[in-house]
Amino acid sequence: MGSNSWPLSLQQAIRTIDELLECIDVPRDALPPLDLSPDFPLLVPREFVARMEKGNPADPLLLQVLPQAAERSVVTGYFKDAVGDSNASKTPGLLHKYRSRTLLIASGLCAVNCRYCFRRHYPYDQAPRSLAHWEETLSYIHAHPEIDEVILSGGDPLSLGNNKLFELMKRIEQVPHVRRLRIHTRFPVMIPSRIDDGFLQAIREMHKPVWMVLHINHPNEIDLALSNALTALRKSGVVLLNQAVLLRGINDSIETQRTLCNRLVNEGVQPYYLHQLDRVEGTAHFESDERLGVAIIEQLRSEISGYAVPEFVREIAGQPSKTPIR
Ligand SMILES: *Cc1c(COP(=O)(O)O)cnc(C)c1O
Ligand code: SF4
Repeated sequence: MGSNSWPLSLQQAIRTIDELLECIDVPRDALPPLDLSPDFPLLVPREFVARMEKGNPADPLLLQVLPQAAERSVVTGYFKDAVGDSNASKTPGLLHKYRSRTLLIASGLCAVNCRYCFRRHYPYDQAPRSLAHWEETLSYIHAHPEIDEVILSGGDPLSLGNNKLFELMKRIEQVPHVRRLRIHTRFPVMIPSRIDDGFLQAIREMHKPVWMVLHINHPNEIDLALSNALTALRKSGVVLLNQAVLLRGINDSIETQRTLCNRLVNEGVQPYYLHQLDRVEGTAHFESDERLGVAIIEQLRSEISGYAVPEFVREIAGQPSKTPIR
């Protein structure tokens, strides 16, 4: 694959259930009832589908992207804006919830549509589209000296091309009180060729440290292409962390979490957060038992290296940070 192949991968990503099921050799009647025309569209790159186990209707990667009819059930306690994002919006595309760091919605697009996504109802069309539109946000960051870290999130910031992305990142690092940049992305996992030479070169030219928080939920997501991309990122000086979401029937077992955390640290990625699902409309079928999450983490502590154990957290609207669950 050439180094410019990632836009093509995105273009050729799977967008219909029939295509998806054909690729993985699963008949529709083996699956739970599906939603054939979901409001939040099906989107999954072929590179990720290739890591699914053929013929397995319960494949943990498949279940993360499969639109089920259950998404349409109305469940009490689940809301469109479960985490108070609209209150934290300071300029179009900027969320400032936690004092020292602010989160910038750099793009509304992702490499994949995760069915449990907490931002599946986020009004992305209100976020800026070009650098000129970011001026208001940059002024806000300039005016807030307590901000020492800017997080590029989304959507997925790596859905921007290198030129646009690094134009923005360079403008941010010019703010004197900003000491670090952080990228929240699932792109390296979904389309590993996104970590191309241009990206790595531009990273090495940054003057301030760049941290990257990946989103890997299951050990089967880690293949050789991802492993190579992670090595290249580390060699370019990027500090790698991972966040995962505890998902019912997908990764809510001690075996899966132990394997995941060990694989991650072997790849030079430190497990950072394990999130309890945000109660967002359409995601109730993914919620796992909070006490099970706590038990898994306690068990992990006795079995693997201390730094390989993530913090189990939930987001509570109005709190000054993510809230640890113990
Ligand atoms: C989760 C989150 C952050 C990052 O929090 P950390 O605990 O530093 O990882 C920052 N801003 C917003 C709006 C968030 O939701
Ligand atoms: S990559 Fe992240 S923001 Fe995008 S759909 Fe998945 S969870 Fe949501």
